[in-house]
Amino acid sequence: MTNQMTIHQTHELLKTRQLSSVELTQAYLERIRQVEPQVHALVTVTDELALEQARQADKLIASGNISPLAGIPVVIKDNMCTRGIKTTCSSKMLTNFVPPYNATVVEKLNKCGAVVVGKANMDEFAMGSSTENSALFTTHNPWDLSRVPGGSSGGSAAAVAAGETIYALGSDTGGSIRQPAGFCSVTGLKPTYGRVSRYGLVAFASSLDQIGPMTQDVTDCALVMNAIAGHDRWDSTSLPYPIPDYTRCLTTDIKGLRLGIPREYFVEGMQAEVATAIKAAVSKLAELGAKVDWEVSLPHTRYALAVYYIIAPSEASANLARYDGVKYGYSYQEAHSMWEAMEKTRQYGFGPEVKRRIMLGTYALSAGYYDAYYLKAQKVRTIIRQEFDRAFEKYDALITPTSPTVPFKIGEKTDDPLQMYLSDVCTLPINIAGVPAISIPAGFANGLPIGMQIIGKPLGEETLLKIAYAYEQATEWHKRKPEI
Ligand code: GLN
Repeated sequence: MTNQMTIHQTHELLKTRQLSSVELTQAYLERIRQVEPQVHALVTVTDELALEQARQADKLIASGNISPLAGIPVVIKDNMCTRGIKTTCSSKMLTNFVPPYNATVVEKLNKCGAVVVGKANMDEFAMGSSTENSALFTTHNPWDLSRVPGGSSGGSAAAVAAGETIYALGSDTGGSIRQPAGFCSVTGLKPTYGRVSRYGLVAFASSLDQIGPMTQDVTDCALVMNAIAGHDRWDSTSLPYPIPDYTRCLTTDIKGLRLGIPREYFVEGMQAEVATAIKAAVSKLAELGAKVDWEVSLPHTRYALAVYYIIAPSEASANLARYDGVKYGYSYQEAHSMWEAMEKTRQYGFGPEVKRRIMLGTYALSAGYYDAYYLKAQKVRTIIRQEFDRAFEKYDALITPTSPTVPFKIGEKTDDPLQMYLSDVCTLPINIAGVPAISIPAGFANGLPIGMQIIGKPLGEETLLKIAYAYEQATEWHKRKPEI
């Protein structure tokens, strides 16, 4: 056994009883103890729970009833509620928050017999692209410890890459699954908006947030989707359609699939190595039989960043109003009045980026500016969405880099929020349109990972998985692991 096994490999070992879940879990907890002092991916290590779940899983396996995820370690981003386990959102505001219920995705994993080994570090309330906005600590990229793992699901991505877990769950509002997946050379899928329940996911921007898998390969991604996707009556935006078996589309036959390469995603300031790697990856897909159109244009892409940074903060300013020091979380105790208590709770409980978003959002929603900013942004959002709809009449999928750069140095962008925001130019438009997209390993530049993003039509996850699988099977990138 190594610490870089996939779900499907591990499942075989468990099923044939060559390995027990308790042994497996102990090995992963040991690996966590070894690498965590360098990587800092986890806010909480849930040793006791993990071993208890592993014992239960071993019983389940002995009874012959074995789900593909049974007995297999998973890490959950710390913005998904776990009953009885701290769920901090990497914020001072929720440092001691212990939810009384499980998020639907956690409930679903439990039903499959999953083993939760830890909760992952993130940018505070998922606002950021590097985990440097965590109020707790910064996560380091396992490929180069002086660099960021991306964000906001940086802890989840780093934990998978460093072999601290077999897979993880992340959440993605503007790129937070795909960008860290790209930066850590793992596979990350943001499903169609509404495909995976958001119940129990601490809300950042409710019309954009979506939970998804972060895995070692595409097969694992499909297996996790099988477990977490589907309608949930506790989430009013959950889509009421049945889910397919996502592993059924894992064939390497992509002959005749129409791929579009939107030129606006090869932005100014993009690193040459990134553009070169993605173009080579697309050529590979063409070799495999896909029909590639290199000349696609989605002109409204250039407004996506502006639209996102109005809509996301607006929704955040409303969602974060609930942290008033009364209901749960941090509460300032020395106040002389209700207002002072509320103000001080928010002053000390929130970090600088969260406050910046609340201010931006409150401004965009305020009476005099609502029409000029929020309403205008919603209109442009519709145009961006329509542009994708039209593109998908001609193409089965669109292909872009996941990020304009390889992982940057810790501290490199912390003084310049706009530079940080720009690291998501390729991923933000996808959330605005609500469509699915996957990031898979597509190369390296000086030993640093490069991710390729494949974008699909609404509920087109199967097409994405198929293309991703075909590429993966024809390349070796996903097999490279960091030396740590
Ligand atoms: N980096 C983007 C932001 O800070 C996206 C974050 C996310 O997807 N949660 O808003």
